[in-house]
Amino acid sequence: MSGSDPFLSNLNFIEKLWASWYIYMDNDILATGLLFFLTHEIMYFGRCLPWFIIDQIPFFNRWKIQANKIVSNKEQWECLKAVLKSHLLVEAIPIWLFHPICSSLKISIEVPFPSIWIMAAQVALFFFLEDTWHYTFHRMFHWGWFYKNIHKVHHKYAAPFGLAAEYAHPAEVMALGVGTVGFPILYAYIAKTNANLNLPSLHLFTVTVWVCMRLLQAVDSHSGYDFPWSLHNFLPFWAGAEHHDDHHHYFIGNYASSFRWYDYFFDSESGPVARRGRENKMKNHAEKTLKKNL
Ligand SMILES: [Zn+2]
Ligand SMILES: [Zn+2]
Repeated sequence: MSGSDPFLSNLNFIEKLWASWYIYMDNDILATGLLFFLTHEIMYFGRCLPWFIIDQIPFFNRWKIQANKIVSNKEQWECLKAVLKSHLLVEAIPIWLFHPICSSLKISIEVPFPSIWIMAAQVALFFFLEDTWHYTFHRMFHWGWFYKNIHKVHHKYAAPFGLAAEYAHPAEVMALGVGTVGFPILYAYIAKTNANLNLPSLHLFTVTVWVCMRLLQAVDSHSGYDFPWSLHNFLPFWAGAEHHDDHHHYFIGNYASSFRWYDYFFDSESGPVARRGRENKMKNHAEKTLKKNL
């Protein structure tokens, strides 16, 4: 690869890095597989580390949502071991299968990347679809058998912390993981088989950006901290830690992952305020029915 190559000189820094990775690896299956595995590990544990450090500093306790529940380092260590084991066992195989799926669905690995607007629109769509999937399956996981046999594992921690984001039963990791990787695959399949729709094709870099953002969202929503500068204070429909912490605290309600609208519209918000609201609504409804029948 030479710097004077006119094709390469038109690429931005990330595109050059991306192309160099595939040229260096000289094996696309290994390059994609390793890229996804490393992205997952670096983003997940890399994002958990600042939360672990914040847990050690009493100054930050003023922003802890459940301030009296500080997790011990021993508990964090046990959780770390379990998550690592689950990554290696449950997620390694699908990661290695990803490149063959990508090539058969024409998910591009070429440079240059698509325009930033196309990538942003696709990532926004995946956020919306994942949240829909997550809300549905998470609500299902709270039903009797599913809760007792699968989802109870994730609810071991009533006051969550970053590392607990992926602490879950393997069946749950897979079912909820479909919401993250399944929709890009479905999108690429629809784009490939319905040329008349003129859907912009999907690039593997877009999928990588989406997976990174989803990992950040998952870890942050388990952080246990709500700062004045947390995203939901600026974007009121963003769920964030305040939303998911209540789910762990009260065990019911707040089932969505990224946004607040499903819990709002389907009346499944958690916490005493939402419960009082529901009770008042039921009372008003009962009174109205009684008056009608008199
Ligand atoms: Zn739950
Ligand atoms: Zn959780």
